[in-house]
Amino acid sequence: MTDQPGLLEGLDPQQRAAVTAPRGPVCVLAGAGTGKTRTITHRIAWLVQRGLVVPQQVLAVTFTARAAGEMRTRLRGLGAHGVQAQTFHAAAFRQLRYFWPRVIGDELWPLTEQKFRLVTQAAGRLRLATDQDSVRDLATEIEWAKATLLTPEHYPASAAERGRECPVPPEHFTKVFEGYEKLKNSAKVLDFDDLLLHIAAILEENTEVAEQFRAQYRSFVVDEYQDVTPLQQRVLDAWLGQRDDLTVVGDANQTIYSFAGASPRWLVDFPLRYPNAEVVKLERDYRSTPQVVTLANRVIGAASPDRGAEGENTGSSGTELTLVGQLPDGPEPEFAAHDDEAEEARAVSRRIARLAGNGVPFSEMVVLYRVNAQSELYEQTLSEAGIPYQVRGGERFFARTEVRQAIAALRGAANRGNTGPGELPKVVREVLSEVGLTERAPSGGAALERWQSLNALAELADELAGQVEQADLTHYVAELDTRASAQHPPTVEGVTLASLHAAKGLEWDTVFLVGLVEKTLPIQYADGDEDAVEEERRLFYVGVTRARQRVRLSWSTYRGQGGGRKRRRSRFLRELDPAENSAPAPKSKRREKSAGSRRVREVHCRICSTPLTATADVKLGRCSGCPSDADEELLTKLRGWRTERAQQLRVPAYVVFSDATLLAIAEQRPDDSEALSRISGVGATKLERFGSDVLGLVNGSDHSGG
Ligand code: ATP
Ligand code: MG
Repeated sequence: MTDQPGLLEGLDPQQRAAVTAPRGPVCVLAGAGTGKTRTITHRIAWLVQRGLVVPQQVLAVTFTARAAGEMRTRLRGLGAHGVQAQTFHAAAFRQLRYFWPRVIGDELWPLTEQKFRLVTQAAGRLRLATDQDSVRDLATEIEWAKATLLTPEHYPASAAERGRECPVPPEHFTKVFEGYEKLKNSAKVLDFDDLLLHIAAILEENTEVAEQFRAQYRSFVVDEYQDVTPLQQRVLDAWLGQRDDLTVVGDANQTIYSFAGASPRWLVDFPLRYPNAEVVKLERDYRSTPQVVTLANRVIGAASPDRGAEGENTGSSGTELTLVGQLPDGPEPEFAAHDDEAEEARAVSRRIARLAGNGVPFSEMVVLYRVNAQSELYEQTLSEAGIPYQVRGGERFFARTEVRQAIAALRGAANRGNTGPGELPKVVREVLSEVGLTERAPSGGAALERWQSLNALAELADELAGQVEQADLTHYVAELDTRASAQHPPTVEGVTLASLHAAKGLEWDTVFLVGLVEKTLPIQYADGDEDAVEEERRLFYVGVTRARQRVRLSWSTYRGQGGGRKRRRSRFLRELDPAENSAPAPKSKRREKSAGSRRVREVHCRICSTPLTATADVKLGRCSGCPSDADEELLTKLRGWRTERAQQLRVPAYVVFSDATLLAIAEQRPDDSEALSRISGVGATKLERFGSDVLGLVNGSDHSGG
């Protein structure tokens, strides 16, 4: 038997150890770009080539359909034909199609395309809100609960234990969840998570089926194992039975789906679960230049020491695995501040054009952003510059439901009558407010994403009005139509536009990380939740480590031209280089000229009037060094009330409100729910549940204390 050329060549000794380890448990715990994916493909090919495993008996699972496709291609290239490489869902679907008729005696129920309708129906029967955002939040929570293996009845206690913010009171959620499952079952359809739940149950409960399955599949490989959910783990356990022929690879520092129930604890605890496992750690980074690697090490090195995903110390603090760059030197990372987002996008577009002129293919460049709504500006700017691009991950902007609804409403308004000169931005905002655009951005979740899409449409009206004096609604709708159709450029050789989440596992020569401002990265709803902020940091780390050669990190001080609220660059940048980045964004003439006529809102300390910059201080409304001006009597009452409520609800006190939130309430004495909702830690759910109690205490103590 001859060695397939290159199967062990081009691997370092640690990678080789993982590749050639005998069948049985193998765990590769290693950082980004160290060759984990390469190692597992080579391992599979090695086992196949040596005749140690039959290709049809290997099942490799990875995170996305695209990664699975790439893995199949690479395996073919290495001479291992016939190996299955799939996502968990695709593998489960295939298996269910085979076993369901035998076990259930019926054709496999189809996947539902009506999930939203079912959730809406379930919520409607309980007289809960059924607007699009509420339903989307409920659907997300159902997905989380199923991924976490929670049944409706166990949800309230488990959610409280994990400090989970439920979109509606947990006991209502239980009913929605139950109602949804019933409706789905009577319609004889399945959702995505059901695929996993059913295959696990079938294998767990039917010895004969399990035996047949286990005779077919004997060797398992999992990539990106740090993001496995309890449900996926259950499926994996069902596949394995008592066997241990399992290779896993992952990087706890790249856990970016714990918001959806994933956890790196199975990866980190693998050696405990399989004491005989071959455990390999890789440190050499083959992907990136030393300059990129240094930046990446600093990003993750700044993580809070005991804040891995789930707040456990999972070894994902960044101190355990420090990457060592193997490539020759490359350019230093660039940091760039801009006045506004349009200017930032134009700068990125110019840079792309210049690199392309120097021979870097468009397909070797990527623009990475935090939320999909950010893609619109880059689609538009690159289109205008004639640069081909493709959007990955997330629906295309013009395909989004809220955008389609908004355009329909705008078209309707244009048909009914037109606008006078200069009225366009106002009229567009009026129409958009009918489909949900509010003046202030919502605090997070689906509502925020939706808001950002609508706001992008409103800003497009500002821009058009600025460029064409006579622009009216008809002009504007025509502009939207042109953009919608023109934004399908041939995309074969294009720059990739992708969200940070969608970029996982992939690599490019040049990476543009854009929109690096507070409230976007970390995302607004992570603020005040240390674990969520740490997940955002890991997301940033995933972004940086996609680059082979070049990283450009940029942010802009204002969202649009003409100012508005000033924004601050991401805290992750401040941590990287405080000296370099303390310089303010360059001021343009326009900015200086108009500065006097615009009020930039600054928050001042209530006690000493110093302008506040630190997030924690802004929340508190005073410098952390200034004495608290809390109403002590009120604070005592609030604490007593909290203890009582926590006992009633059988949850720890902090689940009701944290100490910091109680202190902020006692200091700021909000006298209506609007003011109360502005206090950090008081989300919509808590406002609904506890708002009237708290306001009663605040207003009551006003009278008695006054
Ligand atoms: P991520 O954590 O981002 O998924 P990874 O650990 O899976 O990264 P790979 O994608 O497997 O890393 O490898 C990163 C790059 O380094 C690839 O281009 C790969 O071909 C290359 N590479 C890996 N190992 C070696 C090696 N021993 N010699 C040369 N190049 C290597
Ligand atoms: Mg990989």
